[in-house]
Amino acid sequence: METETQNKEKPDAPVNARRGYALDTLAARQSHFFEPRTGAVCTPIFQSAAFRHPALGESTGFDYSRCGNPTRQELEETIALLEGAKYGLAFASGMGAISSIIKIFKPGAHIIVSEDLYGGTYRLFNSYYSSYGYSFSFVDTSDFSKIEKAFLPQTKGIFIETPSNPMMKITDIKMCAGFIHQKGGLLIADNTFCTPYFQNPLALGADFVVHSGSKYLEGHNDTLCGFIAHSKDEYEQPLRDAQMSEGAVLSPFDSYLTLRGIKTLALRMEKHWSNALAVAKWLQTNSKVKAVFYTGLESHPQYALSQKQSRGHSGMISFYVKDIRDVKKLLSGVRLILFAESLGGVESLITYPWVQTHEAIPEDMRRRAGVTEELVRLSIGLENPADLIADLEQAFEGGAAGEK
Ligand SMILES: *Cc1c(COP(=O)(O)O)cnc(C)c1O
Repeated sequence: METETQNKEKPDAPVNARRGYALDTLAARQSHFFEPRTGAVCTPIFQSAAFRHPALGESTGFDYSRCGNPTRQELEETIALLEGAKYGLAFASGMGAISSIIKIFKPGAHIIVSEDLYGGTYRLFNSYYSSYGYSFSFVDTSDFSKIEKAFLPQTKGIFIETPSNPMMKITDIKMCAGFIHQKGGLLIADNTFCTPYFQNPLALGADFVVHSGSKYLEGHNDTLCGFIAHSKDEYEQPLRDAQMSEGAVLSPFDSYLTLRGIKTLALRMEKHWSNALAVAKWLQTNSKVKAVFYTGLESHPQYALSQKQSRGHSGMISFYVKDIRDVKKLLSGVRLILFAESLGGVESLITYPWVQTHEAIPEDMRRRAGVTEELVRLSIGLENPADLIADLEQAFEGGAAGEK
């Protein structure tokens, strides 16, 4: 790949520097516009563990699928293109990608982390990496003064999730990058919620992007995958070595499914956004709802910042109910929306972070971040928004509307 780093200042210019194609074109047509050997319009599933060597000391570029696979490579190049990165690496899950990115730091390193973040990431850092000599400070990174306060002599990096999960707080990517670079450290941004279609952290100064591709990128609630995207030559080989040595690689079939999902990323994200905006506006008018957190609402406290660093909004909404009994009503009353623990797919899901996605986080930290018993999270899918609103309405009423 001879990609150039995307240096675009303005997030409203979604054109990749490599080919001059817009992001929707790159998502639809991906790294190779067709498979070069056969002309296949879709990248085939190269379901082969090993690849024949033409002669001693010669290789087709592929030897063994843990080290490299043509279907996975097409996906890795595609995520790099979408993120305006030079390099992309695909892993068996988002956690596989996050676990690998932490290894760019040596034991002894201290990392500042968004306190409002995916519970599994908290668990990986706090219960696992902390016993291997790493230390972490979990702070509200949407408040820059808290990052400055958490900085220690041994701080080597900042890991942010923006928008955050589940409170939808926005961290200023450019400001974090400026701060940590001046201290000689690195910025990692989890871009799962926005996807590269709406936000490119590397263009705003982040050094690495990580993704749970299991969410919007793959988009169909049927595959796990994870990514790292970056443009740092000096880190490419160490990251490849980590991927190849540890073996948490994405399979050819899952690579194919993810490539297939990404083809419709642009269409899906636009629809997730308009659907979620309609549902969020309806929730705001609902007398049983205390507060709504959606980055696409003008009432979001950081709406201006999110408009500045992102081009759109995902399908993720969180809200507080006034009466805690309504949580149970909602979770057991929904018919169309499914009570399940993921996000970013075709099907709308409702989640209770307190006991599901964020249970791994200690209670006091959960409360500090706003993750209380009253908080409900929605991943708005691709159904008709009127049907979703009607479903929530009947669930709030205790399912009184009857079967549709
Ligand atoms: C789901 C998720 C992860 C973990 O990814 P998996 O693919 O489930 O391993 C990491 N970060 C965020 C923001 C997520 O939503």
